[in-house]
Amino acid sequence: MQIMADVGGIPGKNCRGFCEYCYFKTVREAKILGCKNCPPGQIGCPHCSTDTNMTRDYFPAYQVLSTLQTDIFQRNIPQDTMVNITGDGDISCYPDLLNLTRGIKDMGLPMHLGYTSGKGIDDANIVDTLINHGVVETTYTTFSTDPALRKRWMHDPTPEASVEALKRFCESCDVHAASIIIPGVNDGEELARTCENLESWGAKALILMRFANTRNQGLILSEKPIIPGIEQQSIE
Ligand code: SF4
Repeated sequence: MQIMADVGGIPGKNCRGFCEYCYFKTVREAKILGCKNCPPGQIGCPHCSTDTNMTRDYFPAYQVLSTLQTDIFQRNIPQDTMVNITGDGDISCYPDLLNLTRGIKDMGLPMHLGYTSGKGIDDANIVDTLINHGVVETTYTTFSTDPALRKRWMHDPTPEASVEALKRFCESCDVHAASIIIPGVNDGEELARTCENLESWGAKALILMRFANTRNQGLILSEKPIIPGIEQQSIE
């Protein structure tokens, strides 16, 4: 069983700037689309109504811990429950991450770092501390294990440290890597190289996500293409 620890945050603002391919980059208005967490007969809930409103900043660690404790008390959760630390910004950029993981460690619960890009990691040694605090799983947005591609497409200011951190996570806990695939950028031989690296480091999986640049390719959050200029390109 998993329980969420939502740290809040705003895509782009709390990720050290937008990745080139971020679906939130062109969002200018709040849209409530509904999700699997909505109660029956209702479109919109605390989970999905905050994903696209682009207004809530990070919550401080004490607030996240307090909400978590209340949730745990009310739900009488089993002992092997995993805390999924997640948010709309990037977990690796969350300034209170070490305080939060230390607090959850004190509750005796293991942790999953949900969908982090690693863009907030300037020193890979933080991985050792997070593992010591009880992080046993992460979903890590990889894009590519080539630092130059991460710098160009994710605007990762310290891509070497992020790739080193990914490697250390792979060696010390369960990693599900994830990549949005952009044709001609991180597919083909580049993707094969990333897969080889991830496999040799011990990653459990690589989730490949199809890039939707226009509405007919599945884009739902805005009318505008995410990356102008490649809308005519075949994205199959
Ligand atoms: S890290 Fe994720 S949420 Fe932030 S800009 Fe990149 S794709 Fe968007």
